[in-house]
Amino acid sequence: MTPPPPPGAGEPTSTVMDRLRALRTLDAPTHGGRLLSYVYDSGQAELDDLAAQAVHTMLPVNGLDPTAFPSVAVIESEILAFAIEAFGGSSAGEVVGSVTSGGTESCLLAVKTARDAWRARRGAGPGSVPRLVAPSTVHAAFHKAAHLFDLGLDLVPVDAETGRPRAADLLDRLGDDVALLVMSAPSYPVSVLDPIAEVAPRAAALGVDVHVDACLGGFALAFWPEDLPPWDLRVPGVVSLSADLHKYGYAPKGASVLLQRGRDRQRLQYFATARWPGYPVVNPTLLGSRSAGPAAAAWAILRHLGRRGFEEISRGLAATTSSLAQALSEIEGLRIVGERVGPMIALAADEAVPAAQRVDPHRWADAMGRHGFAIQQQPGHRQADGTRLPHTAHLTITPVTTQVLEPLVAAAAAAAAEVRGAAPLDVREQAAALVAAFREGDAQGGAVMTSGAALAALQSAGLLTGAEGAGALPDDLAPVLALVEELPAPVVERLLIELLARGFEPPTGGDGVH
Ligand SMILES: *Cc1c(COP(=O)(O)O)cnc(C)c1O
Repeated sequence: MTPPPPPGAGEPTSTVMDRLRALRTLDAPTHGGRLLSYVYDSGQAELDDLAAQAVHTMLPVNGLDPTAFPSVAVIESEILAFAIEAFGGSSAGEVVGSVTSGGTESCLLAVKTARDAWRARRGAGPGSVPRLVAPSTVHAAFHKAAHLFDLGLDLVPVDAETGRPRAADLLDRLGDDVALLVMSAPSYPVSVLDPIAEVAPRAAALGVDVHVDACLGGFALAFWPEDLPPWDLRVPGVVSLSADLHKYGYAPKGASVLLQRGRDRQRLQYFATARWPGYPVVNPTLLGSRSAGPAAAAWAILRHLGRRGFEEISRGLAATTSSLAQALSEIEGLRIVGERVGPMIALAADEAVPAAQRVDPHRWADAMGRHGFAIQQQPGHRQADGTRLPHTAHLTITPVTTQVLEPLVAAAAAAAAEVRGAAPLDVREQAAALVAAFREGDAQGGAVMTSGAALAALQSAGLLTGAEGAGALPDDLAPVLALVEELPAPVVERLLIELLARGFEPPTGGDGVH
């Protein structure tokens, strides 16, 4: 790869673009069905093209101020109209909403609104800390929201067999100090539909607001051909719902919706200030200046596909998912986790067969990588009640998966054969060394481990293979995930921060891409 020019020297546009294209070759393949996480490929080149045109058209616009750029208000209101209908709301039922930059922002805003509504109901001051109750499988965005907006996060263990939270367990945790109960439709780790229809009306009777996180599968499940228990705004007691346009809405990253029941409640989501010498500020979402491109792309796709288009896509997703699930369930040594719904599958080792026939899902995922399919690995998780959710391989099925179903199934069987019976990874010694290094770094750095000590710990564990220390992870991730599971969470969290932060640091030697 050509090195960057010395600072100050400009480059011809063609050189700049050549380099950008060269950099893109480093990335995981975003199209073609080889990457079964992060990307949601419709498999329709026409949709990608439409999205690109929409982004290009809106590129110079600032979504900060829809009075200066009325196109933004029209585009967002049309997206919301589609979403409100898809998720069983009605404007007569006072369902209103916002287009946000993504699932995390939608979830953050749902929590901030609920916290402020809780405080308003109680006349409580900014110092009072309510609880956020959710199953342990709730998306990490809610951990972040509780952290940022100062709520106590109260996680309820799910049934380790089914991956479902029990309705009674959720209801037992509710009380006066609960600002929000979050349930997922479906949850990310195991793709389970939480007991929304059962719990939400009863939570409402106890005065607790309920949010449905449909970020992942919302735009697929809303058009799903199979019967599902009600899970959206049709369920009494559900006061808000998040769904990502940049997942099963096939939009480029940067688009999600948050719907809220009740105009007055939703106004708590907004921030306005007239207390500075600049322009009057009013923001529905967390950002100030914001791109209108991803929302315009999402809008274009919704208009082009229409309800029918989404129904057709969901039919295809359901058929492909069930064929794939059938094929995977026939692989000896692996099992599909939980009572799953929608276009996601989590695979664990089948503990019912002898060790010699078991397939470790992380070793399997690494082997799948060698067969050209990138599969996400999720660590095992010890819940508060002591039960363990197994470590899994996570597959996100998208429309393009249909086109690669045959090679995918063949690779799955071959990869399983390659790793079947392999001894479980034992990383206890390595974990103990890392914890010792962490303690030492901790002692040196005071309350927080220094970045130097964290880097040394990562290098000693062989987790950074780049020349300068920063950058690449080893090819096989199974041992890394085993460490993530084995180490105490604060240690993992600190090391993850170091790993990522080092990757953004400009190279010291001026050797360009590293
Ligand atoms: C992806 C996801 C989120 C967070 O969304 P981002 O778009 O990644 O910020 C929240 N909840 C669930 C269930 C998700 O799958």
